[in-house]
Amino acid sequence: MARARHLFVTAIVCATVLVAVAIGWFAALDSGLREMRFSLTSRPASGDIVFVEIDAAAMAQAGNQSRARSIYAQAIDTLTKAGAVTVVLDAALQGTQGYFDDNALVEALERAAGKVHTVATQTRSSEAELALSMPMNRFAALAPPVYIDATGGDRQSGVYRTRTVHDGWVIESLATTLSPDHSVSRPSFLIDFSIDLATIPRVSLSDVIGGSYEPGLFAGRQVIVGQASYSQQSSHSVPRYGMVSTPSLQLLAAETVRQDRALADMGRLPAMIIVFGMAILFACLRPRMTLGSAIAGSLAYAGILEFTALAMQVHSGMLLDTAAIHIAQIGFLATAFWHELEARGRSLSHAARERDSMRGILARVVADNFDGVVVVDHNKSIRAASRLAEDLISPGLRGENIDHVLPPPFREALNLALDEGEAMEATSEVVIVCNGQSRTVEFVVTLSDVDAGEVSAESAGRVACLTFRDVTERRQVEHRLTYLAQHDPLTGAASRVKFVETVAALLATPSGRVRGASVYLVGLSRLKTVNDTLGHAYGDALLKQVVGRLELLGPISVARLEGNAFAVLREGLLGEDGGGGFADMLISEIVRPYTLDEHRAIVGARVGMTDSDLSGSAADALVSHAGVALSIASDQTGNFALAFSKEMDTRIKSKQDMEIALRAALAREEFSVHYQPQVDLESGAIIGVEALARWTHPELGSVSPAQFIPAAEETGLIIELGRWILHVAAREVARWPRPLRLSVNVSPLQFEHGNIVDDVRSALQESGLPAERLQVEITESLLVTETSHVTEKLKILRAEGVGVALDDFGTGYSSLSYLGRLPVDTIKIDQSFVRGLPGDGEASAIIRAVLMLSDSLGKHVVAEGIENQDQAWLLRLAGCKTGQGYFFSRPGPAQDILARLLADEHDRLSTLRVG
Ligand code: C2E
Ligand code: MG
Ligand code: MG
Repeated sequence: MARARHLFVTAIVCATVLVAVAIGWFAALDSGLREMRFSLTSRPASGDIVFVEIDAAAMAQAGNQSRARSIYAQAIDTLTKAGAVTVVLDAALQGTQGYFDDNALVEALERAAGKVHTVATQTRSSEAELALSMPMNRFAALAPPVYIDATGGDRQSGVYRTRTVHDGWVIESLATTLSPDHSVSRPSFLIDFSIDLATIPRVSLSDVIGGSYEPGLFAGRQVIVGQASYSQQSSHSVPRYGMVSTPSLQLLAAETVRQDRALADMGRLPAMIIVFGMAILFACLRPRMTLGSAIAGSLAYAGILEFTALAMQVHSGMLLDTAAIHIAQIGFLATAFWHELEARGRSLSHAARERDSMRGILARVVADNFDGVVVVDHNKSIRAASRLAEDLISPGLRGENIDHVLPPPFREALNLALDEGEAMEATSEVVIVCNGQSRTVEFVVTLSDVDAGEVSAESAGRVACLTFRDVTERRQVEHRLTYLAQHDPLTGAASRVKFVETVAALLATPSGRVRGASVYLVGLSRLKTVNDTLGHAYGDALLKQVVGRLELLGPISVARLEGNAFAVLREGLLGEDGGGGFADMLISEIVRPYTLDEHRAIVGARVGMTDSDLSGSAADALVSHAGVALSIASDQTGNFALAFSKEMDTRIKSKQDMEIALRAALAREEFSVHYQPQVDLESGAIIGVEALARWTHPELGSVSPAQFIPAAEETGLIIELGRWILHVAAREVARWPRPLRLSVNVSPLQFEHGNIVDDVRSALQESGLPAERLQVEITESLLVTETSHVTEKLKILRAEGVGVALDDFGTGYSSLSYLGRLPVDTIKIDQSFVRGLPGDGEASAIIRAVLMLSDSLGKHVVAEGIENQDQAWLLRLAGCKTGQGYFFSRPGPAQDILARLLADEHDRLSTLRVG
């Protein structure tokens, strides 16, 4: 677009200049330039032509005009005598003036014998008509006339015609006649005005006649005799000299020819071509040039151009008109200048627009900011504010002074920043009152120095920006989370974490250090019954009442550690009674009946306690030691309180050691599986095996399952261990030659926290053992909880064909009446009953009852711990089909069982063979 405009304007300038050249508008300027060049190259006259002025004194000597020709005759005689080669008599010789006078001239002309020329003068007779006035024939015959143009007027161009035609005769001009050797063939030429007119020798006619002229002045020279003064008609306006008389112009023309300086005008075309070329050059180059280089280039070009014109004039006699070129150049420069101005204006307005739009963007960014933003200038006036800021503080903040509208904390921070130049290094949090509500806000003040180049002068200076964020809700949530982390959501009592912190804090105080601290852990019993019978809502209500009662005892802190365990912190040691007094208070408070709406409930309580003397000053240790004491107290019947002792710690330590050892054992594969056969009491044949875990410790040797199984259960490692045994046993038994049934003990934890169904499935799948040949042995404790998901898992296993046996029957809580409802196929009578046989009547009665009931319920019975023949025999008599015990075989490694099976097979085959 800009380029097209540039081209267009260049074309317009070019065309205008060309038209102006054609019309001749620059003629005056060009002649001025010519004049300058003529002056610069001024040269002297040849001196070959001498001018004799017809002066007033000579005329006075003639007396009157009619005697003028006698004077001329006298002059011609003198001049020819003085050696003049040619004499041109530029005087009015038309018509007769008197007989004597005319004769005198005729005679003189005759004496001059052809050396004299008269003139045929071209004059303007009227406005439009030109006339050539010829001398009288008498004179013309003796002195052939030469042509001179005396039309006068503006002859700025200095055109000199070399000849004219009169009545069919060609009359040569004065200038060419005087220098026949240098004749100019052109019909006209330009006079070289660089010839200095003053250097042409001149002398007055009166001096010539009076003989007072330089001797030898005329010898061998040509002489023009003519009027020095000029009249209106015969004056000429020429370059360099202004107005000159006709003889002066003739002298210059004659000198021009003599010096071969006839100049030629090159006309307008070269200037027009150059202007056109320049336009093309300018159109192409200008967009790639700066204004400065364009100006410099143009100046250089103008200089070169003028120098060239001068050189051409001096050396080739060619006159080149340069005005149009200079004017065009000025025109082009003017357009360049204009373009530059326009471009600068455009870029300025573009920058202004950019600034405006940037300002708009910034204002919007501030307004829409997610945070509260308030921008304040050095006059403490608010320049911008985000919507959120206005919502929180007050609407229409812009333009207000901060001291009038902002809450005190913001004001102070902004004042400090603006007055002292101290921005805030980090965010700060304060509570401010907004619209009558107190809000927690996080804020920061930053400072910026804005200089005048970026904004208007009055906005420049230090600017402070207050950014704030309403964190009220966030803080509320955080407080809530902190509260939840530190409190039991149900009862509002402290959490374990908080409790431990409080114990630590107490022990850190001087009074805590001096007097010590004691911690009581209270375990509720029978809470499950309340939950089961009245529902959890009442259970929860009871727990809240428990906390209330504990708090009434005035401890430092009451915490709920888990479902039914509470902790109480008191200042001071347990005391001489070993804490028993306060523990009794705790128990009696808690076991007092609870009123839950129309219901009454009673719970039991056990207390474990310790103090900073017994457990040291580590808060954690106090809580865990009290827990140890509580767990031991919980094994006791009734409401019981127990203080911690070092021995308990040892027990705990060995438990911890056990966990570490168990983990290592699992990793090092120190576990193995032994199998104890289950025998058909009728035939004595092995019909199944029970898999029993064995641990051979590298240092301790064989460790009893009675030791490591409970430890594995406590630590949760039983899930991993159980899975491992299940896989190993299934794999081995599946490879045996007889399809024995495999019983695997499964801990309640594997049902509650593990994924027993998947474990069983993967063991079966991996080993290829049919589900019907696998039986899981569970203990009564698993069924006591009777949670639905345990029952659900048992049902799934049974549905897939896996048998379920109830181990150690009779040792737990289950009564015979439950048997029918239990999801089991087999009942294993615990060895404690079998051990009493045959003497213990009660035991044998129980065994019989179990056998009868099981039979009627269609459940299989296995008697455990058969150690002798009698026991086996009695059980068989009572109707028990399967037995297990040392009498048949002790638990042993797989290869022992395998050997036994092979031996049995051998016996059977030999019996058959014998049979
Ligand atoms: P349990 O399942 O009742 O296993 C029978 C226990 O009685 C075994 O003790 C066995 O060696 C022992 N026993 C067998 N016949 C006689 C006998 O005639 N007289 C006497 N006095 N004892 C006999 P063990 O192997 O020490 O296992 C003890 C308990 O450890 C097992 O009782 C079982 O509850 C548990 N247990 C063993 N292995 C595992 C296991 O792999 N997983 C789980 N969860 N528990 C296991
Ligand atoms: Mg068992
Ligand atoms: Mg058992």
